[in-house]
Amino acid sequence: MIELKKINKSFGNKKVINDLDLVIPDGQILAIVGPSGGGKTTLLRTLAGLETTDSGTFLLDGQPFDPAASKQTEQVVGVVFQDFQLFPHLNVLDNITIGPRLVLKQDKETYTKKAENLASLLGIDELLNSYPFQLSGGQKQRLAIARAMAMNPKVLAYDEPTSALDPALRQQVENLILELKADGVTQIVVTHDLVFAENIADKLLKVEPIK
Ligand code: ATP
Repeated sequence: MIELKKINKSFGNKKVINDLDLVIPDGQILAIVGPSGGGKTTLLRTLAGLETTDSGTFLLDGQPFDPAASKQTEQVVGVVFQDFQLFPHLNVLDNITIGPRLVLKQDKETYTKKAENLASLLGIDELLNSYPFQLSGGQKQRLAIARAMAMNPKVLAYDEPTSALDPALRQQVENLILELKADGVTQIVVTHDLVFAENIADKLLKVEPIK
């Protein structure tokens, strides 16, 4: 379980997160919704250790952790970025294994087996030798999810996973997130799509710009 206690974040004199308390139980889906500028992405980035906070505590199973410090070896939150941030010069297998290989320093057998299992879970196992430019949007997203999961994060977080998707693809993303939930994966979804959020979430966090 991840807990946030009294998290605060400002950019200059602009307060973006104000004394936020939040609990994310294992295996559940938290959707973070709210208008543009409300601080959704900032919250996701602080959880992933990509942005520092001004004050407050993060707890993993009751133990304090620093998202920024833990991102190298023991990743707590893995992020699937809106633009996927795949490596164009690496094939699907290498995109999945580069983190476990270089950051986690796993041996080849371990990271290859894990990548094959994830590719199979996500339905991209036929594409391991393909390059990102050869993939559809939905396949790229699955690859981005496999790559994030390869780092063994406790929680998988998505930034706007359905923006710019047609209804059929949006349904696919919804199904995929619910399939991962059935596999016990804890997930956080940042979205401004309230219908999508209500379809998938166990819990909704509404964030508003702070006046
Ligand atoms: P959107 O739905 O448009 O993506 P959001 O809810 O994700 O919005 P954030 O991107 O978290 O909102 O931004 C929250 C506020 O913080 C905005 O006013 C934004 O201008 C400001 N902000 C975000 N990042 C920075 C930064 N690096 N430096 C200064 N201000 C920032």
